[in-house]
Amino acid sequence: MRLLITGGSGFIGSHLCRTLLAQGNTVICVDNFITGDRDNIKDLIDNPSFVLIEHDISEPLKISEKLDWILHFASPASPKDYLKHPIKTLKVGTLGTHNCLGISRLHNARFFLASTSEVYGDPAISPQPEEYWGNVNPVGVRSCYDEAKRAAEALTSAYRREHNIDTKIVRIFNTYGPSMRLDDGRVVSNFIYQALTGKNLTIYGKGDQTRSFCYIDDLVEGILKFLEVDYPGPLNLGTEFEFTILELAKQVIEVTGSTSRATFLPLPEDDPKQRRPDLSKAKKLLTWNPRIGIKEGLERTIPYFRKKLGSS
Ligand code: NAD
Ligand code: UDP
Repeated sequence: MRLLITGGSGFIGSHLCRTLLAQGNTVICVDNFITGDRDNIKDLIDNPSFVLIEHDISEPLKISEKLDWILHFASPASPKDYLKHPIKTLKVGTLGTHNCLGISRLHNARFFLASTSEVYGDPAISPQPEEYWGNVNPVGVRSCYDEAKRAAEALTSAYRREHNIDTKIVRIFNTYGPSMRLDDGRVVSNFIYQALTGKNLTIYGKGDQTRSFCYIDDLVEGILKFLEVDYPGPLNLGTEFEFTILELAKQVIEVTGSTSRATFLPLPEDDPKQRRPDLSKAKKLLTWNPRIGIKEGLERTIPYFRKKLGSS
């Protein structure tokens, strides 16, 4: 197959590029490096089945080779990144998604949207099933991301209805692992970086807010299985291992063996209090079950951060 992956130099996108290439596919990666890291794809550049197009997907793009799939992963994803680039985030979720759907239509290719648990906002119910419509503040600081993804889902659904495009929507919950930027500001990368450099771990609020963390290999396996089944979604992917941010800090300190302590900072505006996916659909449809718990996931991630710190 020939797949176009937007955001292919980012954290999740680069893992997908590598896995899809290893399976014998041709991968065209479109990225403007706004939050991506060239190092994430440097081992792929010389692969004859890999093509890099440096381009902002919020602007139209013409591809001449026949495509089978468009996987739209381009978007700032960390709160720190999208708060820095709110308009670009809205553009890539709306105009970028529209451009990708246009490419799909032209090539009669299938379309896969990377959406997010953020479409549920600060959820009033837990765990969150796909049927839940969410609780999003449309004018809050996070709305540039949440509403962009909600619009992306709406555009995808409209193209499916009006133009019969074969589409899929995945709602990804907090995922971590090697190839995250050390300074991307997300909680797992922040804590590992702080623990390894002897800084205090920054807990926002009391640290009693919860998240469910998924290791990248489990997520990639779920995404690839989802590509194969005849189901449009939306489909939640993540884990049901829900715990507080304070508990995460303790785990990071334990696994790194750091002497760092915790420091408490104000809770950011509209920070969701809880988040855990209802995975019933994914487990049944994909016969998939995320296996890697937080301790093992941290043990697999920390060496990457150590290496990066050593070379920076
Ligand atoms: P990331 O920031 O590491 O990767 C995003 C990539 O998209 C980067 O390489 C960036 O340069 C690229 N990009 C952004 N805007 C672009 C544009 N206009 N044109 C071309 N390229 C552009 O983030 P990630 O964690 O890998 O997230 C990838 C996707 O998965 C995002 O769409 C995100 O919303 C979604 N997602 C991720 C998580 C998670 O926990 N990592 C959770 C939910 C959803
Ligand atoms: N968080 C924290 N310290 C940090 C970074 C994040 O306490 O250094 C908290 C943040 O307030 C949120 C949770 O950790 O409650 C997850 O944040 P992240 O930015 O990773 O992703 P989110 O799930 O909010 O999109």
